[in-house]
Amino acid sequence: MGPARVLRTRAELRNALTGARRPIGLVTTMGALHAGHASLIERARAENGTVLVTIFVNPRQFNDTADFEKYPRDEASDVQACAAAGADLVFIPSVDEIYPDGFQTSVRVGPLTVPLEGAARPGHFEGVTTVVAILLSLAGADRAYFGQKDAPQLLVVRRMAHDLGIGTDVVGCPIVREADGLALSSRNVRLTPAERAAAPVLRRALLAARSHYDAGERDGETLRSAMRATLATEPLAQPEYVSCSDPANLRELTRVEGAALLSLAVRFGDVRLIDNEPLP
Ligand code: AMP
Repeated sequence: MGPARVLRTRAELRNALTGARRPIGLVTTMGALHAGHASLIERARAENGTVLVTIFVNPRQFNDTADFEKYPRDEASDVQACAAAGADLVFIPSVDEIYPDGFQTSVRVGPLTVPLEGAARPGHFEGVTTVVAILLSLAGADRAYFGQKDAPQLLVVRRMAHDLGIGTDVVGCPIVREADGLALSSRNVRLTPAERAAAPVLRRALLAARSHYDAGERDGETLRSAMRATLATEPLAQPEYVSCSDPANLRELTRVEGAALLSLAVRFGDVRLIDNEPLP
């Protein structure tokens, strides 16, 4: 793969995209790239004429200032990782470029953003949908690739793009995991060795609930209890929520009749991890 072209302003991006080979595939990231991000970029490469990756640590989607400040940043290695995975263009705007002087517009999605991640992280989704609306609008991409790892985000972004008539197809991509089952996340590097060793308990909890489901269990609370019981075996894990929800609206299910989303959020010290498993 050749080097990727780095763009820093809206105008540079617009120029680079004028006459770019279509379709255009977009992958939005906050940097600190890992194999999960690479899988999205590779998929975009396989399906599009031009691949654009954005790297922007979006202050508006952090409900916790310390989390924003401690978020890992390494631009040089990120640009290399983008190129290695097949990106043509990498847009790395400053905060002022995304939110110009006097900025006062916000995109807020309704009830989908209320439960789970929405409840645990006030303001988070409004920050996400506002920046993603800006990025989709600047990119004019045919397709945008998002990870199933952030399943609620995928649902919320798809809803927003549909509601606002943004002509970008929002594509969901599978979760990439470490060999021990831990979902790759930019925050994993902030775990202590002991926390890192404990973190696969998220996956084990999801799989415990899945095995009850596979054995015929359809009671939502029983599936949630199975996740809680597994998390309780790990003293370093501080569960924030466990959920068995309807993937259409993210409301908790009392009974699983059709599709369901098992999901959880767990803290290890000040690092917050999420994971999920779709049923069936
Ligand atoms: P982030 O940089 O954390 O905002 O993530 C950028 C994109 O990469 C989002 O669409 C995430 O869902 C996706 N992503 C993050 N981790 C993974 C993973 N382990 N597997 C697949 N996609 C991921």
